[in-house]
Amino acid sequence: MPSLFPALSDPGTTRRPALRFGERALTYAELAAAAGALAGRIGNAGRVAVWATPSLETAVAAVAALSAGVPFVPLNPKSGERELGHILSDSAPSLVLAATDAELPSPVGALERIDVDVHGTGVLPEGHTGEGDPALIVYTSGTTGPPKGAVIPRRAVAATLDALADAWQWTADDVLVHGLPLFHVHGLVLGVLGPLRRGGSVRHLGRFSTDGVARELGEGATMLFGVPTMYHRIAEALPADPELAKALAGARLLVSGSAALPVHDHERIAAATGRRVIERYGMTETLMNTSVRADEEPRPGTVGVPLPGVELRLVEDDDSPITADDGETVGEIQVRGPNLFTGYLNRPDATAGAFTADGWFRTGDMAVREADGYVRIVGRKATDLIKSGGYKIGAGEIENALLEHPGVREAAVTGEPDDDLGERIVAWVVPVDPAAPPGAGELADHVARRLAPHKRPRVVRHLDALPRNDMGKIIKRALGAG
Ligand code: ATP
Ligand code: MG
Repeated sequence: MPSLFPALSDPGTTRRPALRFGERALTYAELAAAAGALAGRIGNAGRVAVWATPSLETAVAAVAALSAGVPFVPLNPKSGERELGHILSDSAPSLVLAATDAELPSPVGALERIDVDVHGTGVLPEGHTGEGDPALIVYTSGTTGPPKGAVIPRRAVAATLDALADAWQWTADDVLVHGLPLFHVHGLVLGVLGPLRRGGSVRHLGRFSTDGVARELGEGATMLFGVPTMYHRIAEALPADPELAKALAGARLLVSGSAALPVHDHERIAAATGRRVIERYGMTETLMNTSVRADEEPRPGTVGVPLPGVELRLVEDDDSPITADDGETVGEIQVRGPNLFTGYLNRPDATAGAFTADGWFRTGDMAVREADGYVRIVGRKATDLIKSGGYKIGAGEIENALLEHPGVREAAVTGEPDDDLGERIVAWVVPVDPAAPPGAGELADHVARRLAPHKRPRVVRHLDALPRNDMGKIIKRALGAG
């Protein structure tokens, strides 16, 4: 298969910026030299781990492993010993690649270690790789259970990045800014490999801050990627930060993903900047499935249309397709295409269960489709679909309605068993003012007025904060769902 990064061997791009993390940066020529040197050292390894701090070293390690054809496993440096132990025993890497100054905790410290030299000089190997060969193994976020290792083939990386280039008109002239972690698909595949595949560049903030976003967009960055919690922070900061508003207004593309972007945050950003955030929908197992296209109008609460090459259908519980694109009929999203993973590492049963006989991947996400093809995700089948009083109700729209209440800072909706209704709707609310939280009756009326009476929460529980994982996703299991 041809190189994933043609710009690394193109003499025309050698002096172009490729990566910048804080004050440290590499051009394409420097990246090719450093990755070439590292690739030469790991060429015979069966599989390597990468200690995926948000650093130049992680990016160089990823490019080196991909160039050498050695599958790699990005590790979350913030994971606890138990999770790291699970991932290491499951994926069995022979080495770990890490920055010189990284302190590796147990059990990662027990692995043979190679320090990544970002100033190394070597030549990138000529790849002899097939498109079905594993490129990397990424562990899912663990939102619904223990993380599973998704084996992602080289074909999927190329297919998803090229489909996004088409949808977003993403070119070598784009400069991406973000502060995403580099051990998941979003920050690593889209946020680092994406710009490199295009021949453009990425500036990583190290730690996300609204000041950093304003600075980089003010200094020529064209695109911003973030998870909803980051856009929430932007929405909160905007009223008092005209520099941020100006910077966002000047960006070419603002993209959100990894979880649903609350409509309330979407609207606040649009009101303050005149710009709408584009949502895309993907998973570790499938990379990207849908997106709003850059040349089309984003609509709050929708994730756009299937990307080029991706087949998408909504199905009933028995896998029969739903054909009514009426914006009402809820079904599970199933996808097929070159963007898919090849299976879960060491989990043949989970892999088999994840596909239908004719190769559709069961995402476990529930959605409706509008007449114009826009997909609207209503939530996850396991935790966000509430069967109450004969209705199938998605948690997402109720959460969006609750967030529009001035007394609600954060909201999550779950179902719990109810003798009468089957399940009753429970709202978990973080109030703006803990001393004067909005009452249950008031919130029920607020939702009933906006949506429908049967969608009103029957129970309201107050919390100081919602349980979230490191991507900012709400862990509904911890609220008793699923
Ligand atoms: P696990 O599979 O371990 O429980 P996870 O599903 O959160 O964790 P990821 O693969 O990182 O792990 O996340 C994919 C999921 O994130 C999707 O299945 C979907 O539920 C959610 N998601 C991603 N993008 C969006 C979006 N734009 N809107 C709504 N949900 C999204
Ligand atoms: Mg999942």
